[in-house]
Amino acid sequence: MITGVATEPIIIFILLLKTYVYKSFVILYIKTLNTKIYLKNEGVNMSVFENNIKRLENLKEIINITDEQMQILLKPKRELKGNIKINGKEYEAYRIIFNDALGPGKGGIRFHPKVNEDEVKSLAFWMALKNSLVGLPYGGAKGGVSIDPKQLTKKELEDVSRQYMQLFYENFGQNKDIPAPDVNTNSQVMAWMLDEYEKIKKKHEFSMITGKPIELGGCELRAGATGQGGAIVLDNIIKKIGKNPHETTVAIQGFGNVGSYLAKFLYDKGYKIIAISDITGMVYENNGLNIHEILENLKDKTYLNELDLEIKDNNELLYLPVDVLAPSALENQITKENADKVKAKIILEMANGPTTSEADEILNKNNILVIPDILVNSGGVIVSYFEWVQNKLGNFFEMEDLEIKLEKILNKATDNVFNHKLKEKHDLRTVAYALSINRILDAEKLRGNCE
Ligand code: NAD
Repeated sequence: MITGVATEPIIIFILLLKTYVYKSFVILYIKTLNTKIYLKNEGVNMSVFENNIKRLENLKEIINITDEQMQILLKPKRELKGNIKINGKEYEAYRIIFNDALGPGKGGIRFHPKVNEDEVKSLAFWMALKNSLVGLPYGGAKGGVSIDPKQLTKKELEDVSRQYMQLFYENFGQNKDIPAPDVNTNSQVMAWMLDEYEKIKKKHEFSMITGKPIELGGCELRAGATGQGGAIVLDNIIKKIGKNPHETTVAIQGFGNVGSYLAKFLYDKGYKIIAISDITGMVYENNGLNIHEILENLKDKTYLNELDLEIKDNNELLYLPVDVLAPSALENQITKENADKVKAKIILEMANGPTTSEADEILNKNNILVIPDILVNSGGVIVSYFEWVQNKLGNFFEMEDLEIKLEKILNKATDNVFNHKLKEKHDLRTVAYALSINRILDAEKLRGNCE
């Protein structure tokens, strides 16, 4: 009896305890889930395009963009997707024309395993802003294939390039959308794409693609144009802020097309390049590196770790106490997590989107001058424009004349951004975005697409 009376409350107690423990686990799980969702919305996992939306939203108040105009600015005009098949495996391929109010689409094609729709959309958006900022008669576009070209033979790389054109040829054309090289694509890839397009269309049309070899209508200046342009913009600003190139130290992240030419042009102007890096590591010399010697030694090699030099951790480069840090590799290198560790005084954004919107806030607070990508790396597309004009006219200009023109366009755009009245209260990126978005919106209004 005594046992019977005593067991009932114990059983009830155990049942209650089980329910409590179970409920606690469920609540804990839901809380964790909510935290993750909350964190995502707060931007910890913000996608590259969400960063763009945030930047535009910040700008909405500053230059009075209406809701109708925001919708036009944030919606891509055309999004094309397809699959490329190599050795029985499929790879995603994209072409996105973001905005074409100012002219035909213009932007590179990237081959990289991390290529995805969000990234291509962001790159196309930045191309629209860049072309507008420097006054070119182009909209913005970008393309890519989610493949690692380093794993491919030359024949397979040609196959990828030709399949890409077979997928999207109807979209391309000298007055529709004009592609160019980007990460892991070069003049040879452009040549294969041109050839495929011309075979399908049964006609010659050099001006449908830029960044081609000289023999196929390319422009001599194009290969080094993005690096050369970055050096022109930096030199302009260094002089404006009363500094001397010979006393200015530089660290360059990424030593591919853009980073290596930037190093060459800055070195020739007298800047002291103390660190360069690529995917394999960093080369550092406090008294300044001899860039010509490094480029000469790299001629028959691919990576910095193949040189007879001491190789350090490439992550260290971002935090060196230099005057100028030039991220020239990929997007999202300076983020909310590491921005506080950056000790450079100036950031020269050679890559597209190397800084996130949250990192911008930290860099501004730390008085670091960020010279934005849409201005700094526009040299490449400006020379692509020269190539396009030459091909359309069936004529060639002297290289010296083109160099003078490149310098003029870039100095004008740099002066417009640096001397604008918005700069009294806002960072250079905000000013550059305001100028380029106003030009796109003026075109949209004239076309009757918005008020
Ligand atoms: P690339 O493939 O020639 O070079 C990229 C370089 O970055 C390589 O040296 C690679 O090893 C290095 N790299 C990659 N990850 C790295 C890391 N974590 N640390 C250090 N180095 C790293 O590409 P590119 O054409 O020079 O383009 C670089 C950037 O410039 C991209 O953001 C591209 O969109 C932008 N861009 C290129 C052009 C152009 O004309 N090529 C024009 C405008 C903007």
